[in-house]
Amino acid sequence: MLVVMRHGAAPEEIERVVRTIVEMGYEARPMPGAQRTAVGLVGNDGRVDSSRIEALPGVAQVIHVTQQYKQVSREWRPENTVVTLGTGVRVGGGEVVLIAGPCSVESEDQIVTAARAVRAAGATALRGGAFKPRTSPYSFQGLGARGLELLALARRETGLAIVTEAMDEAGAHLVAEYADCIQVGARNMQNYSLLRTVGRIGKPVLLKRGMAATVNDLLLAAEYVLAEGNAQVILCERGVRSFDPAVRNMFDLTAIPIVHKLSHLPIIADPSHGTGLRDQVTPMARAAVAAGADGLLIEVHPAPDRALSDGAQSLYPDQFAALVSELRPIVTAIGRTLAVPSPRRVGTPVVAAV
Ligand code: PEP
Ligand code: MN
Repeated sequence: MLVVMRHGAAPEEIERVVRTIVEMGYEARPMPGAQRTAVGLVGNDGRVDSSRIEALPGVAQVIHVTQQYKQVSREWRPENTVVTLGTGVRVGGGEVVLIAGPCSVESEDQIVTAARAVRAAGATALRGGAFKPRTSPYSFQGLGARGLELLALARRETGLAIVTEAMDEAGAHLVAEYADCIQVGARNMQNYSLLRTVGRIGKPVLLKRGMAATVNDLLLAAEYVLAEGNAQVILCERGVRSFDPAVRNMFDLTAIPIVHKLSHLPIIADPSHGTGLRDQVTPMARAAVAAGADGLLIEVHPAPDRALSDGAQSLYPDQFAALVSELRPIVTAIGRTLAVPSPRRVGTPVVAAV
């Protein structure tokens, strides 16, 4: 439930609403706005009797959030949320953000080469897994902590923001020391203790749709993160399991405008996992941007044939560069722009102003 205060409501009136919500056994979240303050009521699982609050001085309106998810919904917050990564990359504004890189971090040479290539083509963030959730326990599991160090090195070399996956709570704390954005993968979308942990850590989160999750499940998973006080969540459509072996996953394009309708959180698209096929990545990437995706997550490997994971869906660097060129007229047609890498010279260390 959202309590909208009158324009110019006195601080004591807002305080009284907060006190009343707490007395009723719920949590109150005051949200000062440019025009007026709203106070969110959280902790309810069902409709709350609002009569006591409606009668309080300074209250303009009480809005009952009709969805199961609350803080994630557009009813709660009509304006788009913009998620800012540490390096200044903004996801959810007018710019479409490109996050690209290999499935896994494999070596210093591989990740730095990939980072330079995707930056040169127009990416502003680098992806790469150090902790890999593999279907088989005998497949390459990632370089672990060493992979995180290599990602940090690639960030120093290129200035790109780092997006990388955490698979468990201990891993999330470690990833948070290195990454600009913590990825929660499809297999962990409903790992509620991990969701609460990344919520409490407070760093931006990239939450991927589970492979058999509905849009409602995805938004409820995001609600776990917001319920811990972290609203910096980027959602990601990455395809769902289907009956059709023609593709690895069925890329759900409609999830993009549906999420935009239901939620204020940004949503990006991952056509690499969404199709599993290199030659399908570019057409689906174009379609996702046309459908309103706030960004793309694309697997790019300097030598896909030698990749230790997901080589078959990874683009060659020149294919990624060609895709970026094809995206330009599409973003222009829908009134957006592509985010551009910061002008900082590659290889220049970031030195804090003194
Ligand atoms: C990945 O991004 O490399 C990954 C494992 O993705 P997903 O969780 O969507 O399968
Ligand atoms: Mn992958």
